[in-house]
Amino acid sequence: MAAAMAAEVPGWKELDEGRTGLYDLGLVGALPGGVGFGNTSVRTGGGEFLISGTATGGKRALGADGYCVVSAFDIEKNRVESYGPVKASAESMSHGAVYLACPSARSVIHIHSRKIFDAMLRDAYPRTPAEALYGTPEMARAIIACVKEQGASRGLIVMAGHDEGVIAYGESVKEALDLVLELYRKYN
Ligand SMILES: [Zn+2]
Repeated sequence: MAAAMAAEVPGWKELDEGRTGLYDLGLVGALPGGVGFGNTSVRTGGGEFLISGTATGGKRALGADGYCVVSAFDIEKNRVESYGPVKASAESMSHGAVYLACPSARSVIHIHSRKIFDAMLRDAYPRTPAEALYGTPEMARAIIACVKEQGASRGLIVMAGHDEGVIAYGESVKEALDLVLELYRKYN
C-alpha cells in the first residue's frame, strides 16, 4: 500500500526523477558521515504533501519507498505527523511553511550547495535571518514571512541560518526543478 501511495500522487514520478538529477549534481545527498541533506516534496492536496523521507539522502534513486506523506504539522510545537514507508525529517516543516504561506505552490525543493548559498547571500536573494536555525519554529516563521513578502507562486530563498541551505518552490514540480537548475547553471 505504501509503495503505491507515492506512485499515485500526480507529479511524484517527475519529482523522483528530478531528485535523482539533483543527486547527480551533488545538490541532494549525504555527508561522508552518512547524514543526508536536501529533500523534495509535492503537495497532495490542502496542507498535505508527499516528501522524501529522513535518512534517504545517500540513495541515488529513491522510488516510491523513499517518500512519506506529511498529514499535519504544528509550527509552534515543532511537530510533524507523517505516514508511509519512511519518516519525515525535521526539515519537512520548512516545506510545510511554504505550502501554508503560498496556496498556489505545488512543489518545494530544498538543496544544499556551498557555491549557490554563498552566491545567493552575496547577490541579496530573499533570505531567512541568520538567527533562524534549522528545524526550529523560528525558521518556519521566517520562511512564511519570506514567501508572503515575495507574494509569488514561485520563488527562491537562501536560509542564512542553515549553512548551504536553499529552498525553491513553484506552481509545478517542473517549475521548482527548473528554478534550481537555473541557479546551478548560474553559479557553477
Ligand atoms: Zn538542509
